[in-house]
Amino acid sequence: MKADTLQREKDLLIERRNSLLADIAALKETLRGEVDVDIDEGDPDVVEREKSVILLETLQSELAATEDALRAMEIGTYGICDRCGKPISPERLEVKPEATLCVTCQGEVDRLRRRGMAPTRRWKAEDYSFG
Ligand SMILES: [Zn+2]
Repeated sequence: MKADTLQREKDLLIERRNSLLADIAALKETLRGEVDVDIDEGDPDVVEREKSVILLETLQSELAATEDALRAMEIGTYGICDRCGKPISPERLEVKPEATLCVTCQGEVDRLRRRGMAPTRRWKAEDYSFG
């Protein structure tokens, strides 16, 4: 990857990290302010609060991904897939500068995650032992 491209990606990531940090701080502030709300099922405030909590989790995982990408830049592995070691396409990094996996591996990981990370196992060797 060209040095000027890398610098631009880095600037984007730092900008993104700063805006995520600001959003997270604002959201935490909002959530703190709502602690006194009556816990009543169907209360629209509670629904709002749940949405904020989910949003906060999303932002925090994006922040973690952004920081991983920045760290990868520091040690010179940015743009290399964490899983297979192949280069991540520049088009993908353009859209998602915090990506640490190539499209193929991301698809694979997403699929595993949907299944609860555990590959399904249909049989065990013990089932076939005689004794
Ligand atoms: Zn990969």
